[in-house]
Amino acid sequence: MRIRLEEIQPNKTVTRELDLERETINGVSGEVVLEDVHATLRLRTDPLGFVVHYDVTGRAVTDCIRCGEPLVLDVAQSDWISLRVSQPDEQHIVLNQTEMNVRFITEPELDLVQFVKEAIELAVPDYPRHEENHSECQAAFSAEPEEVTDTESASPFQALAKYLEE
Ligand SMILES: [Zn+2]
Repeated sequence: MRIRLEEIQPNKTVTRELDLERETINGVSGEVVLEDVHATLRLRTDPLGFVVHYDVTGRAVTDCIRCGEPLVLDVAQSDWISLRVSQPDEQHIVLNQTEMNVRFITEPELDLVQFVKEAIELAVPDYPRHEENHSECQAAFSAEPEEVTDTESASPFQALAKYLEE
């Protein structure tokens, strides 16, 4: 789903709705599956290019880096981004908070699916993991060293106990 930015009339807002049933993106820590994504995008022109306001909801499913089990993240993003067609000529560009939301585009066309996927990618933490109080995640995390200790201490005595009984 693409939109030709040139076709947006000044002072008019173009609204697009987008649903993604299932998409996969590559996050920093691995694959992230996006499910039931719904996005509303509102595009309009501004003196330097275009502005996109977006609301994105859905689920991002990835593996917890701590226990390895699936981790479901609810996504609810509302933000905006300014699209500028060309790089400004000024030699010294001071980025302020507002200008962090600027993206330079090379084509007068926007791929909405790609745009929404990138918006969700920003919402997924680099190292996704369950909440600290998630009991199964905690158990998986602490179980491994305990098991190793048990096996090491138990086995020699168990072997000895067998001979003492006989
Ligand atoms: Zn976990």
